[in-house]
Amino acid sequence: MAMIRRLSQRSAKVVLTIAIGSGSVAAFQLVSVKDEIAIGQQAQQELRRETPQVGDARVRQYVSDLGIQLAQHASGAHYPYSFSTADYAELNAFALPGGPVWVHRGILSAADNESQVAGVIAHEIAHIAERHAARQITKGTVANGLLGLLGAMLGNDGAGAAAAQMAAGLTANSVMLKFSRDDERAADRVGVDILARAGYDTHGLVEFMRVLGAQQGRSPGSVEQFLSTHPAPVSRVRDLEQLVAANPGGGRRTSAQFADVKRRLAQLPRAHAMPRS
Ligand SMILES: [Zn+2]
Repeated sequence: MAMIRRLSQRSAKVVLTIAIGSGSVAAFQLVSVKDEIAIGQQAQQELRRETPQVGDARVRQYVSDLGIQLAQHASGAHYPYSFSTADYAELNAFALPGGPVWVHRGILSAADNESQVAGVIAHEIAHIAERHAARQITKGTVANGLLGLLGAMLGNDGAGAAAAQMAAGLTANSVMLKFSRDDERAADRVGVDILARAGYDTHGLVEFMRVLGAQQGRSPGSVEQFLSTHPAPVSRVRDLEQLVAANPGGGRRTSAQFADVKRRLAQLPRAHAMPRS
């Protein structure tokens, strides 16, 4: 669940300009933790401007509290995690580099219990903790033959501006579209660990994959974007079942707050349809 696809061309360029401007040209990791955070914050600013958030502050607070509680069990760098709730009906969730996570209202509406929502969020936290975005940015840059270009830019200010513009144009569409299947599998594995450490029944994540499958039958459009960037739920459910059997976690399934959120959502005006990009 890792879609940064909705970011506009412009913000993709900003992202790359920052990535390139940071000036670290290590062979396999161009992007430092600090860079990741800066890139994510930049993208987050734009998303905040463009994305309607759920109108009920208690719902937003619930998602934020749940996310922060889960993030305390993440390993790796201390990223400034944040959790926002988009007022979109489509089922989707995604992580930006270095901390920001977005959950669509459709996820909350479709989930039957808190452990399912926690599972989705834990998976997104895992993408951040495992630095998958940094790898994608690095890979995209390398794939476009930009390493040499970067070197030239850093060594020659005169050529810099034109080269940077060319670099941004080349890579805007290729860098941040989606994570690899390996990264998705890793996010499931690490997400299950986070869920278990936080005391949740890890079956929640598997259950939510089944919810997605059922939703696909009822309303294909509502899960289209999710499915375009993720392994098919059938294979994912199979892999997840093994992970969960090996690490069932604690007994936490749901909460009074979750029930309250469901009631509140039912009273809100209909969620927005996500704009097509
Ligand atoms: Zn994912």
